[in-house]
This record gives sequence, C-alpha cells and structure tokens, in this order.
Amino acid sequence: MLNKMLINGELVSGEGAAVDVFNPSTGEKICAIAEASEAQVVAAVDAADVAFDAWSQTTPAERSALLLKVADQVEAMAEEFAGLESLDVGKPYDAALGDEIPAIADVYRFFAGACRCMNGSAAAEYLPGFTSMIRRDPVGVVASIAPWNYPLMMAAWKLAPALAAGNTVVLKPSEITPLTTLKFAEVLQGIFPAGVVNIVFGTGAEVGAPLTSSPKVRMVSLTGSIPTGQKIVGCGAETMKRTHMELGGKAPVLVFDDADIDEVVEGIRAFGYYNAGQDCTAACRVYAQQGIYDQLVEKLTAAVATIKIGTQKEDGVEMGPLVSQAQQQKVAAMVDRARALPHIRVTTGGNIPDMPGYFYEPTVIAGALQDDEIVRKEVFGPVISVTAFDSEEQGLAMANDSDYGLASSVWTADTGRAARMAARLQYGATWVNTHFMLTTEMPHGGVKMSGYGKDMSMYGLEDYTTIRHVMIKH
Ligand code: NAD
Repeated sequence: MLNKMLINGELVSGEGAAVDVFNPSTGEKICAIAEASEAQVVAAVDAADVAFDAWSQTTPAERSALLLKVADQVEAMAEEFAGLESLDVGKPYDAALGDEIPAIADVYRFFAGACRCMNGSAAAEYLPGFTSMIRRDPVGVVASIAPWNYPLMMAAWKLAPALAAGNTVVLKPSEITPLTTLKFAEVLQGIFPAGVVNIVFGTGAEVGAPLTSSPKVRMVSLTGSIPTGQKIVGCGAETMKRTHMELGGKAPVLVFDDADIDEVVEGIRAFGYYNAGQDCTAACRVYAQQGIYDQLVEKLTAAVATIKIGTQKEDGVEMGPLVSQAQQQKVAAMVDRARALPHIRVTTGGNIPDMPGYFYEPTVIAGALQDDEIVRKEVFGPVISVTAFDSEEQGLAMANDSDYGLASSVWTADTGRAARMAARLQYGATWVNTHFMLTTEMPHGGVKMSGYGKDMSMYGLEDYTTIRHVMIKH
C-alpha cells in the first residue's frame, strides 16, 4: 500500500508522527501512516498558493476536461476504491461499490458541466456612460477538511466544486479513515498540474489546525462535528477567512397517523441504520402521532431486529461496525444513560454484540421524551429514538426544538399537511414520505448549529466563488 501524500505534484511520505489505522470489523491494525510535518503543511499551502495564478486563469472547458478524467478514473478503479473504503470504514463492500462509487463519479461529472454554465446579472449601463458587469471568480487557496464516515465521497464534495471554480486546494482526510483519499492522491497527481490539488495526512490538532489557520488559506471548508467547526470559525476570524461548514445533524422524522406505516418502517429501517447510522442526515429522531405510535414501535422493532450485521464481504450483510472503538463506546454509553431513565424502553438491540471489532446492535429506543439526551444529542450510531406527539403543531414544535438543522422528513398521506410542514421545518432539507435521498443537482447543507454553505448543486459551486463588480467608464 502506497499511502503517500500529494504535495506540489509529488507523492511524498509524511515526516511527522505515525498514526495507526484499524479495520473496524476486526479491530486489527491495517497500517501506520506518518502524518505531515509542520514544514510539509506549509509546503502544501505554498504550492497551492503558487499554482493559483495559472489555474485560476484556465478556462472552464479546460478544468472541466480534467474533472471528467477524474470521474473516469474513479469508475476504472471502482473495485479497488470500494475495497479500501469498506476495509477502512468497516462498511459493507457492496454498499461502497454500488452506492458510493457511482455517486462520487457523478459529483465530478456534474461540476465538470456546472462550471461551464454559471449564471449572473446582466451586464448593463446601470449608470449612464458606465458599463457594469458581474464576475464570479475563485476565492484562492481552499483548505478542505473531511470526516471519516464517507471519506472518498466527502473528498469529492469538497474537491470538485472548488477545483471547477478555479481554486487550488489542500485537502486533509480524517486521520481515522485516510486510505481511499491517499490512494486517490495518485490519480490526482496524474491529472492536475503540480500544486493545484494537495493532500496532507494527519490529526486535527497536528495538521488540521495549522493548515486551516495559515494566512495564505482564503477559505476553509469543513464537514465534521460542531466543536471542530467552532474552532475553525474562531481561528478564521483573525484573517477574515471565508468558511463553509457542514456539521452535525439530528434529523426529525415526523410520522402522522395517516402515514403508510409499512413504508415508514421500511424507510426508517433503511435510512436510520445505513452506514451504521454514522450519517449526519440519518433518520434517527422519530416523532410518532399518538394514533400510530404503538403500532409503529412494534413494527419498527420487528423490522430493525432483522438487520444483518457483519463484516465487509459477508453474505447478505446490511450493516457494518462503528468506525472506531471510541465511537462504539460513545454510542454504548449514550444508550446506557437512556436505558437508566424510567420512561425508556429499549425494544431491540442496545448491546455490544459478542464479536470482534467495533459492532453495536441496531437499536430502537421507545418512550423517549423531548428533553432526553438521546433525543437532543447526535448519537452517530445505529440508534433511533421514538417519541409520541398529539397535534400537528406539537409535532412541528418538537421537531424544530433542536440545536441542529440539517435534515428532516414528514410522513403523511395529506399533501396539504406535507406542504405546511415542509414550509415550517427549520432544516436544510425536508423529505416527504422518504428520507436521506440525495442528488448531485440539489444542495445539501444545514441551518442553525448544523452550519451553513451548500455542498453539491450550482449553489455549491457558487459557494466556492466570490462575486466581483467591474465598471468601465465609456
Ligand atoms: P470531527 O469534527 O472530529 O473531524 C472532522 C475533521 O476535522 C477530521 O479530518 C479531523 O481531523 C479534523 N479536525 C479536528 N479538529 C480540527 C482542528 N482543530 N482544526 C482543523 N481540523 C480539525 O468529525 P468526525 O468525527 O470526523 O465526523 C463526524 C461528524 O461529522 C458528525 O458530527 C457528523 O454529523 C458530521 N458530518 C456532517 C456532514 C454534513 O454534511 N453536514 C456529513 C458527514 C458528517
């Protein structure tokens, strides 16, 4: 395994301390990778800074052609990338290959096309004798920081719009799951001019912090936790950096009495436990109207109990382990604290199974109340809570009573109610009678503490540009 970083067009080994990388399905160490030294972080930013002038002057068609090559390479190496991703994150191989790889290639293809058709106001003589025009120019050097749950996909969400818009980038994958991104560095090296894309490896403290606080970095894009977002935004204030924050979530799932219960059960079974629930949009905070509550808990419990957990290539595996022992312990502790409350019933799961690795049973927690930790805080594991509500107003108020604002869903047969709820839910996305579905043409991003800025879509591309006014006196 190569595991090299990409700095100024060269594949180089880190010169800092070694970080161990584990297989979450067995708990065994896969390898140790040396992180970037401080000097290597500086070298990566300097390379991006030097490369910016020429790269920002390339035409959209030129950048587009390179992004299309990236998409082709992702597809050509689909099995290799899926194998590494499932090994490193512990997720089922088939999900990595069938769900993630096509979506990743699509992101590069979308932005390859999008950068050739950006919109803006018409140039005109808004003052007599002066022609005004709008430009959308790249921001400069972008530092991109990715999380561990979908490493290669998060790298795509960050690299594709930034590069398409004419920025240069230094990307840091999560130190927990770096393998696909480091492999991807080889692909990038063969396609982009030196310095346009750089990949550095290391922990948040040793590599992320110096990277994101460099004065030469003009924008920081993070997908990660709220505390990390707060640190980065705080540091960025000094040099007035643009920030783009995709942070945690705790998606409410509002289920009304008139919903199709079998569809709800199937939906939560799929969208609450995908990627072992380690998903910022996971359908995890269920609110069920009184008339459907008992039946929903019963059917959901039965359905969730059938989710097959196992290692990456096991036959029929639906759910893998959590990414790390720390994450497993965090999830177990949250469920234990919930279970200790007198009103809570753990109707299925709720334990660390007797197998190697960092597994946790798919879990349903019934009888949860609005102020319980399990309702208010992100678990980021295969655990959903179910809470009862009476009226439409009460359900809506409970759904909105959260620090988070990333994703939400409404399940009802009444389209008028669906429209009313969608209008008033304070979330970046609202799905009706489904959940979790993303498409590259549509924006993904939050409100409130879930952050700001959009990934994917034309809005994502715009976020990586700056609007300028040029006025010409006649
Ligand atoms: P994390 O915040 O611990 O780490 C994210 C990244 O930030 C890692 O690469 C880490 O090394 C880096 N980092 C940590 N401290 C840093 C610092 N001081 N300066 C710079 N970089 C630093 O998050 P995680 O545990 O890897 O990911 C899980 C979190 O990500 C969850 O909260 C989840 O909801 C969120 N997430 C959000 C989205 C979204 O689209 N909104 C998508 C996926 C995950």
